[in-house]
Amino acid sequence: MNDSRLRRPSAVRTLRVGALKVSYVPDGAMLLKPAGPLPAAVDRHWPRYGAYLNDTRRLVANTGALLVEDGARALLIDAGFGPRAVPEDPAHPHRGAVHGGALPGNLALLGRAPEEIETVAFTHLHADHIGWACVEPPLFGRAAYVVPKEEWDHRGPEAAALEPRARLVLAGDEVFPGVHALALPGHTPGHTGFVISSRGTRLLAFGDALLSPLQIRHPEWSAGGDDDPAQSERHRRRLIAELRRPDTLGFGVHFADVVFGRVAPHADGAVWCPL
Ligand SMILES: [Zn+2]
Repeated sequence: MNDSRLRRPSAVRTLRVGALKVSYVPDGAMLLKPAGPLPAAVDRHWPRYGAYLNDTRRLVANTGALLVEDGARALLIDAGFGPRAVPEDPAHPHRGAVHGGALPGNLALLGRAPEEIETVAFTHLHADHIGWACVEPPLFGRAAYVVPKEEWDHRGPEAAALEPRARLVLAGDEVFPGVHALALPGHTPGHTGFVISSRGTRLLAFGDALLSPLQIRHPEWSAGGDDDPAQSERHRRRLIAELRRPDTLGFGVHFADVVFGRVAPHADGAVWCPL
């Protein structure tokens, strides 16, 4: 693999999962101080993993959504950061720059109008996942908002905009044909992935249970922003075991230009093999 993919955001990417068409829809990018997502990757590890840092020593991540199409029907998983930009805070130990804004244009590139989205399902309610669901006037004219119940019970004031259309779901619930909720708590109390299955293939959209492909090599590295790092590690190990099963692909929204991949065995455990 050309390792520059680890240091740049992803463009639109599409793949097939059985009869379903699945596309990454970029909204924007984040440049994270590495101590934020990966505080355990203390400086002694960075010489080894320098390929993951850009020339200003920031970890490059995306903000965006996953479009799942079943013929005319369309589901979106997460909703990007929205039309705004936040600069890096020099005083903050790990907060980096984030900008969004590209999601509607990229949906149009994929031939979809926002009114055609029947459901937006959220992995969790952080600002870089609910952005376009909170704009006025609403972008998604008719979508229901699927929110994991445990996540809803712990919501902050920024989630108020979702309330009129919120549909609460539990682990195992089907949120769209062939798409089921998978509890992956730890990053937030109700953090949830989605298993997209069709004709014997599955794609696990795991949200922020993994912020960087480095956490597949190092499942013990919980993110600085994880509410419960021990719970996050436990579920991350369970997730990686699921990703190692045959006919299973993964989608990591924050994974730079390697959003789609599979997990393969490695001398040290497992590694991410981008598609
Ligand atoms: Zn996130």
